[in-house]
Amino acid sequence: MQNQQETAGNKGRFEHAVATRFCPECGALLVPDSGCFYCRLCGFSLCKA
Ligand SMILES: [Zn+2]
Repeated sequence: MQNQQETAGNKGRFEHAVATRFCPECGALLVPDSGCFYCRLCGFSLCKA
């Protein structure tokens, strides 16, 4: 159940990043790359590998 709760939290942060295009990890602006968005500072990506 702890994993389920953590997944829900990560999903929320992910959706927030999609909506705002700001990195949920460090707050930097996500930059577009090949149809995806990623963070140049910490490497966070909105694209699932
Ligand atoms: Zn970042």
